[in-house]
Amino acid sequence: MLSLSAKIQDAFNEPACENNRSKDAEARKKGCSKPPTPGAAAGGCAFDGAKVVLQPITDVAHLVHAPLACEGNSWDNRGTASSGPMLWRTSFTTDLTELDVVMGHSERKLFKAIREINEAYAPPAIFVYATCVTALIGDDIEAVCKRAAEKFGLPVVPIDAPGFVGSKNLGNKLAGEALLDHVIGTVEPDDAGPRDINILGEFNLSGEFWLVRPLLDKLGIRVRACIPGDARYLDIATAHRAQAAMMVCSTALINLARKMEERWDIPFFEGSFYGVTDTSEALRQIAELVVKKGAEPELISRTEALIAAEEAKAWRRLEAYRPRLQGKRVLLNTGGVKSWSIVHALTELGMEIVGTSIKKSTVDDRERIKQILKNENHMYETMTPRELYSSLAEQNADIMLSGGRTQFIALKAKIPWLDINQERHHAYAGYEGMVELARQIDLAIHNPIWEQVREPAPWEEPLAGQERSGEESASILNLCGKTARHVGEC
Ligand code: SF4
Repeated sequence: MLSLSAKIQDAFNEPACENNRSKDAEARKKGCSKPPTPGAAAGGCAFDGAKVVLQPITDVAHLVHAPLACEGNSWDNRGTASSGPMLWRTSFTTDLTELDVVMGHSERKLFKAIREINEAYAPPAIFVYATCVTALIGDDIEAVCKRAAEKFGLPVVPIDAPGFVGSKNLGNKLAGEALLDHVIGTVEPDDAGPRDINILGEFNLSGEFWLVRPLLDKLGIRVRACIPGDARYLDIATAHRAQAAMMVCSTALINLARKMEERWDIPFFEGSFYGVTDTSEALRQIAELVVKKGAEPELISRTEALIAAEEAKAWRRLEAYRPRLQGKRVLLNTGGVKSWSIVHALTELGMEIVGTSIKKSTVDDRERIKQILKNENHMYETMTPRELYSSLAEQNADIMLSGGRTQFIALKAKIPWLDINQERHHAYAGYEGMVELARQIDLAIHNPIWEQVREPAPWEEPLAGQERSGEESASILNLCGKTARHVGEC
């Protein structure tokens, strides 16, 4: 098994990643993820990234080997949903203290915690996360996990992604490596079929994958494992017997997709479930891949029939929103796959994109945006909050779609805002999700509150019938300052 530093080099050298392919060997060595900026509140550490990818495995006990704060920082910061087990919602930590570190008790404490979890919850597996403190003091979590697995007869999986090794995105990839090293391929399924697929990089945010799964069910396509959204340990352990895979989020788990293709001959494609056309395209590609791998050829025509019926239904429902959204101007501040798939979905509604960020987008993502937008000036790498604020006014935007961190920029500019990142409360995937997205944008833009918010505040205008005399106004000015400019400072 590769050492952690070898694994990191391997992740930076990912041949399936377009960003990597466009670099020379020297640049590749340095890696693509910039280290977190000290003092910046944005972004997360590698441990956080590993947790983001693995925590949605719902029946597993996730044990963080660290002082309390690491778990506190990363626990439950995403809106993924489970259709069954709730063990993942319990927070487990070894809660190391200074005394444990100084006295060298930490490995023993970890072993004890694994025993307690096993006795109290009997989970199908326990994932143990290394963190900065436990990696720096040299705890051998791999050896402790191995010993505990033998003793208790259950998989105890070490996740070697301590925070200091890099950014959240690197942590995503190291989580994929942990699944490859310790989980996928460890159990042989007795029900493998010709229409089994994996979905990779789908997080089931607000339960949105549940809007897609019924479409696949109708086609007789079984999702062997959706990694990580609403996953079970056994699903993932048997994922190597799928016939094909779809990768939803390119930057998070591309290493997993490529290595599964290499090891178990599972071809994959990158697609999106956002927007009507992209959902149809994804279904089409899934059907084509499984047919190539031996499923019955009629699956293609059944897929086309389903697409035609579902598209017709979705367009009919979207007609109600189109006149209300046509021509409305959107500023989009998101990243990765959403930067192009949401752009595409919005243009389907007749909306105009006045800007989209491409910060976390791959070369492929950028190409797709260029094809959809035609105007490269509307793509921006990164914007400071101040630039984002002025851009909203300059571009005359009707709404901003972004994550929670930038919501106050829009609200300060008195412009409607809709959350499309991980904390969102509505599901936007598939045909149903597209209708919901249109509904939410419509509700946000046409909310009557905006008219009131944009009115001058009561103290900015004299009340009707209460006009101030020149003398009164002068005395107020005297209280606050000599000129109108100074008034604002009082
Ligand atoms: S793993 Fe390290 S960087 Fe991440 S939260 Fe813990 S101490 Fe902080």
